[in-house]
This record gives sequence, C-alpha cells and structure tokens, in this order.
Amino acid sequence: MEKVNSNLSDQGANLRNLMVVPTYKCQMACRYCFINRSRQDMPEETLYRAIDLLLTSPCPEVELQFFGGEPLLRFDLVKKAFFYAEAKSREKSKKIKYFLVTNGLLLDEDKLTFLKQYNTTIMLSIDGARQTQVENRPLLKKDGGRYFNSLLRNLKGLLGRAEKCCVNLVFLPGDIKKLKVNFDFLTSLGVRNIRLSYAIGADFRRKDLSEYARELKKIIRAARIKRVNLLNLDDEEPCFFIPQITIGSSGDVYVGCNFILETVFPECVGLMYAGELKSIKDISRLKRTRQEQSTMFIRKKRKLNINVVKNIYFGIGIYALLKYWQLCKEYAPLVSGVHLSGAGKVNARGSAKCLPILSRQGACCLAEIIADPGDLRSLIPCAMSVLASGAQKIKFSPKLGVFWTEDKIADYFIMLYNMIEILQEKKEIEMINISGKGSGARGGKKASLTAAMKEVVRLLPAGRISEKTILNNLVLMEVSNSFFGKFRQ
Ligand code: SF4
Repeated sequence: MEKVNSNLSDQGANLRNLMVVPTYKCQMACRYCFINRSRQDMPEETLYRAIDLLLTSPCPEVELQFFGGEPLLRFDLVKKAFFYAEAKSREKSKKIKYFLVTNGLLLDEDKLTFLKQYNTTIMLSIDGARQTQVENRPLLKKDGGRYFNSLLRNLKGLLGRAEKCCVNLVFLPGDIKKLKVNFDFLTSLGVRNIRLSYAIGADFRRKDLSEYARELKKIIRAARIKRVNLLNLDDEEPCFFIPQITIGSSGDVYVGCNFILETVFPECVGLMYAGELKSIKDISRLKRTRQEQSTMFIRKKRKLNINVVKNIYFGIGIYALLKYWQLCKEYAPLVSGVHLSGAGKVNARGSAKCLPILSRQGACCLAEIIADPGDLRSLIPCAMSVLASGAQKIKFSPKLGVFWTEDKIADYFIMLYNMIEILQEKKEIEMINISGKGSGARGGKKASLTAAMKEVVRLLPAGRISEKTILNNLVLMEVSNSFFGKFRQ
C-alpha cells in the first residue's frame, strides 16, 4: 500500500482531512503492500458517520480522502459518499474537497467524468516505466505485465481530463538507481505533478539515503527545467509524524500515517488507534500536531518495527537535505561577498573529537556539545559522558568553520534524533535546542536572514573562511533550528 501525505492546515492541525477506506480489496499485489485484504468493505452507515465526523471540523474547508485497497472497486460506495458529503457540507456551510488514490486500473471515462464533476484530486500510483511497474506492481492474477498498456491509456485519459491529478511513484531500495529514468518516463507522458515515496516498511539503509540524495538532486534539477511539480519538496518528512486521521472499514479510528492499515505493523496499529468512530462525536478530539506525533513516536520507539525506525531515519535524512538545498539557494545571494570582520567566538577549537564545553549557570551545569563532522560517531558517547558527570542542560551545536558534506549533514541529524530519543527518557535533563531557551533556537523562519548570518559570522573562528563554508554553516544552523522545531511543543 502506498503512503499518502496530506498537508496540515495551519489553524486546525490535523483536522482538515479525513481518510476513509471503502474497501481493502485490490486487483494488484504490489511487492511493498501488506494490506489486510481479509477485512470487510466499509458499511454505508460507517462511511456516512465518518463524513459527519469530518464536518465537525473547525476548518471552513475540509477534504475527504479515499484510500484502499482500491477504492474504485467500490465506486458505488464512493459515489454515495460524494452525494452524502455534498448534501451535508451544504447544510453546514462548509466547503468540501475530495482526494482519491487509485491504482488506475478502473479509471475509465465514466469515472473520470464523475470525479471531475466534483473537482476531485486524483492520485494515480504508478512506479515508472514498464519494467519497474510490472516487477513491483504485478496483478494479483498474474498476467505477465500485459495490463501495463491499458494502465497507460488510463493515465493519459486522466492527464487529458483532470486538471487536479498527480502520480505517486513508490520505490524500494533496489529502485533508487532507476528513479531518474522512471521520473523521465512519467514526465515524457505529460505527468506534471509527481510524488516520490519510499516504500514504507522496506529496509532502507544509510547507503540508500546517499544514493537517493544523489538521484533526487538530478530529479529536482530536471523538474525545474521541465516545470514539473515535485510534491516531496515540502516539510513533511519523516512522513510517520503526519497525524493523518484515518477511518478503517469497521469504524476503527487512527491518528497516524496510513501505513497502519498494513498487516505487518501490528504494533503501530495499536499505537495509533484512537477509538471507535461511534464514540467520537467531534473531530477536535483527534487533534494532534506534528510535534505531538513525533514525540509519541520517540516515546514508543522500542515498540516499533525495526524497518519503521529505519524509515524514520531515512525520512530525517531526506528532510535535512531538502531543507539544506532549499536554504542554500535562498541564502547564497546573502552570503555572496560577506566580510569576516568581527568573527571570533570560536567553537571550532581544533579538536579531533566532538567537544563538550561545560559552563555553570547557577546551580545547573550546561553542556554544549560541539559536533565535529570528522567524528560524528563520538557525538552520543560524548553527550552521555557529560550527562554522567552531572550536567542538567545540554545543547548541541555543529562545529563551524569547517565544511559539512551532505552525508555528514544527514548523519548529524539522524544522531540528533537518536539523542532526542535518549534524552526523552531522562526527564530531568533539559535539551536547550528543543526547550527554545538557547540562542540556537531562534526559529529559522522568524529570524531575518541577516540576523542569522551575523550570528554565524560571530561564531566562526577568525581567519580566512570561504564563502562556500560560510553558506554551508549558516544553512546548517538554520536547518538545525527548523529540525528541533519539529519537537518543540
Ligand atoms: S495498488 Fe495499492 S492497495 Fe493495491 S496492492 Fe498495490 S499498494 Fe496495495
């Protein structure tokens, strides 16, 4: 089953969207899908109750999302949902939008006409060119990939008729090298909105992240040239932290990424279960922010499937790199021609190891750990040893004045995530980066670029430092602010 990331509304946290699963049945047998096919289809009353719940949202505009299984196998039910939602939303003076994820096999003219009438956004899942698609997404009743041509016809029909459509390209670790080829294949057909989604639960390792970063860079460049909208380029990773409200067919309610519908993550299903639809009268009861969701994941880490944990690391790496690339572009003109007068408070004290700096603040001992890209492995042991020596507050800062490669940046944030997990259990220790009381927690968006740059320049070691390194360090500090913001309550 593919994952779908949906945006959170600003005011309503996760209360703008609700996902229903009309059926768990599907004609395909994708390699990465472990949907529970034995479950019953959603009864009509449950579907209506789910829509009623969505319409209790405080948001003026809401979105009803259909997911599966393959929802078009129960198009009768989907249509009834539209009719009901239209009538009820009018009664409540709410605007309602629709979003439907499909494998595309049944997406014919009639269905397109109906869905278009309601301005539905359609996400079609296709993993790229024939070889990848038929290998990863065979039919349940094996046909040797003969279905591919009719799927392409349906995709072309979709592109020709629906303005609001996108393609979800799911990849496994072994597909990363072919991503650009598959991306090019889809864009050559005229696809203009593409989401690249790593297959949830697959064994993505650290080397896969580096490979993905290389491929993603090429794709971002190509997307810019071809004017293709890459839906990944936002703030959604790790996708596990998205507090998506999902209603299963028997009226079971979850707050979490929709991989909970898979049979292989029973522990996650338990973690995200929020109760019975019948007993939830107001959607506000399910309100949860991304920060709360991420904190919940951290607390329950030991209960999670190991591949889910690896996926979270993968997501954190992607998040850090995307943010880094985006801010590099934004900040580059600012750094151009900067003079280093005034640089001086050194935090790059020539150590070969991650360096703790201890200072007394009243009765509390603050440990600032300067992470050295040359020795990230010692970051956690170093932090643990200063904590063992009695520090009550801890702050992590990257060593400045040296250039951080992208691999090191990804590693640094994965380490920081691990550190947050460790410190979560030590409630008496305050992590200054998260509590927001340190200078580093200034909040990237609010701070002006100039102020951010001044701060970095002040912290840089005196001496000749290239513009490239200044930009690298400045952006790293900003990515760090935004990363810790994910965990601030
Ligand atoms: S099309 Fe979707 S639901 Fe069907 S097997 Fe593939 S991933 Fe699973």
